[in-house]
Amino acid sequence: MAHLFAKKRFSAVILAGGSSSRMGGVSKQHQRLLGTPVAIYTLRAFESCSECEEIIVVSKADECPLFEEYRSEYGLKKLKTVLPGGKTRQESAFIGMKAIGEKISYIAIHDAARCLITPQQIGKVFTAATRTDAATAACPATDTVKFVSSAMKTETEGQPDRSKLWNMQTPQIFYADLYRAAAYTAAEKGFAATDDCSLLENVGFGCTVVDCGRENIKITTPIDLVLAEAILKARQKGE
Ligand code: C5P
Repeated sequence: MAHLFAKKRFSAVILAGGSSSRMGGVSKQHQRLLGTPVAIYTLRAFESCSECEEIIVVSKADECPLFEEYRSEYGLKKLKTVLPGGKTRQESAFIGMKAIGEKISYIAIHDAARCLITPQQIGKVFTAATRTDAATAACPATDTVKFVSSAMKTETEGQPDRSKLWNMQTPQIFYADLYRAAAYTAAEKGFAATDDCSLLENVGFGCTVVDCGRENIKITTPIDLVLAEAILKARQKGE
């Protein structure tokens, strides 16, 4: 059901509470790309998105003061609050959800580490969410993905049909009441997920996929910093 009379704006919950274990111990959201922290690219994309009303950052506790410094250093106008995160991504998203404004109809959950998202792409996912209540950035899978025997992690055990596989990205944007219901249900039942669409699927809802292309990478390992800088340089040249 589309909520035709609800005011069309969203709160963004930016998740930056991870340990960056695959980045070799340095905090990925504060690494610099062409001199600017990863998280600033992310925050600027949401700041520039006209439908974004407010931004809630969920951070590692000891890095909360850094985001407060960014607020003045980079002139962040929509940053409402910075909160310490939880043990898992799901817990951090739950903490962020509880801080969104009561009158705001939609919630966007986004990984701080997906710093190459553009305001236009956020807008497209939001438009889809206003039509179907739940939408996610994603892109069709290009690799063949196989199950591998878990004991030794050496033997393949077959694969799902690639034509039906999409890589999930963020933002994932939802009608806020629906998301709240799904998130509380997951918390009560101990349902664990690595993205937010899974919380809705767990209560019987599908999410609309919006192709946001392969540049919307999640900074995870050091090679991603090299890729992200190359993409930013290409964008600067207008390629
Ligand atoms: O671990 P993963 O790469 O899937 O994390 C995705 C995003 O979730 C990252 O931006 C990370 O900082 C965030 N996260 C979080 N709290 C956690 C774990 C991850 O906010 N406890």
